[in-house]
Amino acid sequence: MTYKHVFLNGGDADFLPGKAVCVGRNYAEHAKELNNPIPSSPMLFIKPASAFANMAENIAIPSGLGDCHHELEVALLIGKTLSEAKPDEVMAGVLGYGLALDLTLRDLQSELKKKGHPWERAKAFDGACPLSPFVSATAIPDWCQLQLRLTRNGQLQQEGQAKDMIFGIEALLSNISHSFTLNPGDIVLTGTPAGVGPLRPGDQLKAELLGHICVESRVI
Ligand code: ZN
Repeated sequence: MTYKHVFLNGGDADFLPGKAVCVGRNYAEHAKELNNPIPSSPMLFIKPASAFANMAENIAIPSGLGDCHHELEVALLIGKTLSEAKPDEVMAGVLGYGLALDLTLRDLQSELKKKGHPWERAKAFDGACPLSPFVSATAIPDWCQLQLRLTRNGQLQQEGQAKDMIFGIEALLSNISHSFTLNPGDIVLTGTPAGVGPLRPGDQLKAELLGHICVESRVI
């Protein structure tokens, strides 16, 4: 894999891609659409660096493993180590904002859940985390204003506002940093709004962080 974190203005980030720490069910409407309860503390899982891919290139989905769902999410690029950090300390560790697709093999995930097995095969496979270029955090004084939107074959599929997160970015990063040290080059996925659904080869996707990022790609 030749994936590297890049900035919209063209520069590369100085550090190697690390892990992605992700939160499940962080928007109430999405928890509802999958008939899941709203969690009382962040439900975390990890994708390894081998899951990263460039969202602006073709998006390869696994075949023969059932539905692969799109989950469009705000992604945070970590620039400073965060360990056991307090909510008022964490924003200093955020270097950039971008978009991620948390690709999820939904049928396989349901099977694994039923058996009480871990989710990794459904969420952490190679290519399971396409990422957009990042905008510098200095360009985004207030993350609550961020809005994201996914269009598939010209149809609006997902739309959400970061302010509707159940665990906001400060609380989320602080909580994560008490279990997993976040290092420069790590990514945090902040959860998906409602409207998830299956991808098909040939789909044309447009992912937007409104006013900041717009990435078009094709599913293969
Ligand atoms: Zn997700």
